[in-house]
Amino acid sequence: MPALDAFLQQKLELLAARHARRELRATGRGQGATVTRDGKSLISFSDNDYLGLSRHPEVLAAAAEALTRYGTGAAASRLVTGTHEAYAALESALANYKGTQSALVFGSGYLANLGTIPAIVGKGDLILADRLSHACMLDGARLSGATVMRYSHNNLDHARMLLEEHRAEHHHCLLITETVFSMDGDRAPLSALSTLCHEFDAWLMTDDAHGLGVLPREKNPADIQMGTLSKAAGGYGGYVCASRTCTDYLATTARSMMFSTGLPPASVAAATAALSIIAAEPELVAKPLANARRFTAALGLEPAQSAIVPLVLRENDKTLAAARELEEEGFLVAAIRPPTVPEGTARLRFAFSALHTDAQIDALAAIIRKKEWLCAQPA
Ligand SMILES: *Cc1c(COP(=O)(O)O)cnc(C)c1O
Repeated sequence: MPALDAFLQQKLELLAARHARRELRATGRGQGATVTRDGKSLISFSDNDYLGLSRHPEVLAAAAEALTRYGTGAAASRLVTGTHEAYAALESALANYKGTQSALVFGSGYLANLGTIPAIVGKGDLILADRLSHACMLDGARLSGATVMRYSHNNLDHARMLLEEHRAEHHHCLLITETVFSMDGDRAPLSALSTLCHEFDAWLMTDDAHGLGVLPREKNPADIQMGTLSKAAGGYGGYVCASRTCTDYLATTARSMMFSTGLPPASVAAATAALSIIAAEPELVAKPLANARRFTAALGLEPAQSAIVPLVLRENDKTLAAARELEEEGFLVAAIRPPTVPEGTARLRFAFSALHTDAQIDALAAIIRKKEWLCAQPA
């Protein structure tokens, strides 16, 4: 075996021994919330297409039209010739929806975080991050060269303590948090965080990947609101909503935008159509949360705060086994393991969408009630 492969093979075996190896499994998408895997039809509680917009007729039509008119690719970075006509409508719709002066679209949510954070802060600055912030916020933070400190999840006292101790030694300070935590489904106390930031002369940046199209529109006090077009919007791409000055600055300094090709026009047109449905149909937007709450009520859990409900089983092997058992019963539920979540907090993660029927949710809850899994929940 070539040296590289021998080295990597050994690493793969170590991961497998810890039940930490991951595999890509071909999955087809069927009607409604169903998917197919290994020829078997499953009801998916693992998709982030919260409103089913990835296949909404108006979204498909907008994408098809842009595809025919502009072709499959953007042909260059947005700074060269990749800012095709379709961007203007999307960016003004985003700014409008989020209530900001301006918006800037990136290739993905990951790229938005990876480009924005290092464009704003750097060496000599301080980043305070919620301990459970998504990997791409933390990657952006690391890439910036700023000092990164993590405060305990949603713990304002801890954030304050770190600011009191370390703010003065640093030039600028950026506090980063998710609005809806992607693996826990709970929400950040945005207005209290904003007050804290003002008190310590810090900027606030939020990641709304799981909020857009799932929670009712509300005022977000953050200086920088990033998010993705790949979840409830059903397509692909990322964005930052902020002041015009901020997006102008990012457009000329965020390396993940400067040195990567613009989005395909069809993706931009699809997102624009999706956003107009999100803005126009609050009843549709209310569905995923209502479905998640139907599930938490059936299991006697705390009412869901978002479309995401975790069931923490702690150990990797136990979580994988639980996911396999659910798969045998016809449900696709993600087994989430470290490093996606902290060590010792492996979990089943249920994501609810507008496509789920009451009968599907009740059937899932009935199966889970028969297992021992609920006993493992942290108090
Ligand atoms: C999915 C996700 C992202 C990444 O967005 P993509 O558009 O998929 O790259 C960023 N932040 C959070 C919290 C996410 O859940």
